[in-house]
Amino acid sequence: MNVKGKVILLMLAVSTAVVVFLEYINRNPEVDNNSSQKGWWFLSWFKDGEEKDLEVGGEQSNYPDSWGCMFTTRKRPEVVTVTGWQAPVVWEDTYNVAVLESYYARRRITVGLTVFATGRYIDHYLEEFIISANRYFMAGHNVIFYIMVDDVSKIPLIELGPRRSFKVFEIKSEKRWQDISMMRMNTIAEHILAHIQHEVDFLFCMDVDQVFQDNFGVETLGQLVAQLQAWWYKADPREFTYERRKQSAAYIPFGQGDFYYHAAIFGGTPSQVLNLTQACFRGILQDKKNNIEAKWHDESHLNKYFLLNKPTKILSPEYCWDYHIGLPSEIRNVKLSWQTKEYNLVRNNV
Ligand code: UDP
Ligand code: MN
Repeated sequence: MNVKGKVILLMLAVSTAVVVFLEYINRNPEVDNNSSQKGWWFLSWFKDGEEKDLEVGGEQSNYPDSWGCMFTTRKRPEVVTVTGWQAPVVWEDTYNVAVLESYYARRRITVGLTVFATGRYIDHYLEEFIISANRYFMAGHNVIFYIMVDDVSKIPLIELGPRRSFKVFEIKSEKRWQDISMMRMNTIAEHILAHIQHEVDFLFCMDVDQVFQDNFGVETLGQLVAQLQAWWYKADPREFTYERRKQSAAYIPFGQGDFYYHAAIFGGTPSQVLNLTQACFRGILQDKKNNIEAKWHDESHLNKYFLLNKPTKILSPEYCWDYHIGLPSEIRNVKLSWQTKEYNLVRNNV
């Protein structure tokens, strides 16, 4: 073979190697649950399989260091940044925005966000929620807002930015606010099955009585994501207001439970959110049959679910802060804040 032939052969071999390598790093293990890829070290934070392996601890106990350029616990020594089952707790300054952004931008992900507003919650909260979400929720990525209302004619006119779209659904409202809140579990599950599972890679479900203040970005994405409740993140687990009556499906005995999670935000892949919402709704129906209602309604069932099915990622209270608490030094960057509770104005039954 002459020199020219050898050069062409060499170029072919090099380009094949580059294509194979790019294909290897471009698979998204969060979206593709069957991915058998192993060992791409800086992506390991995202792997379903590896997250499960970590529960056994042992030789992998220094795992947080291997989150490497994605996640670091070092800058936040004053707060819990890793759970007992080695899931990250995302605080400001624990993640590398640039690396995460380029990782997810390459994958052209779409993130869904469900929000419910019935009765006076539409007039009172929906507009501010959507305007702020349009600006701060997954900025730069594809987003679909799923807006569930009982009166479509009251939807505010909002011009969304690029890569944002919305779908409005009319739902039947319930008489009691407790049932409105709980029925969301069933409606979300039905919509995931009917269409959301085909439309998004990740899904968040949120209360409407809150406002985005800063970027709520891709650092929050994961298989199964839970939110720490702002009033309880420093409390002793024995004080948590879990459901303590054995007759309820949401029952958690004293001595059990890891954190008190807030039902105002949860998320994950569509299949994980489907499991969660179906399980919570099963618990709610079982309680109805037994004439019992869990202390904090859907939130009690959510806490039970996360006790049995550990979240793979937890968001710090910076992701859902109540300014009525004040602003302690560990709350460095509030991404979303509670609206003032005005139950007498917005709820049907108080
Ligand atoms: N909700 C609603 N209409 C109601 C009551 C509740 O749309 O009449 C929805 C709304 O999305 C609200 C969520 O259910 O944010 C949970 O209720 P709420 O925020 O009042 O509960 P809290 O956060 O105070 O526990
Ligand atoms: Mn709320």
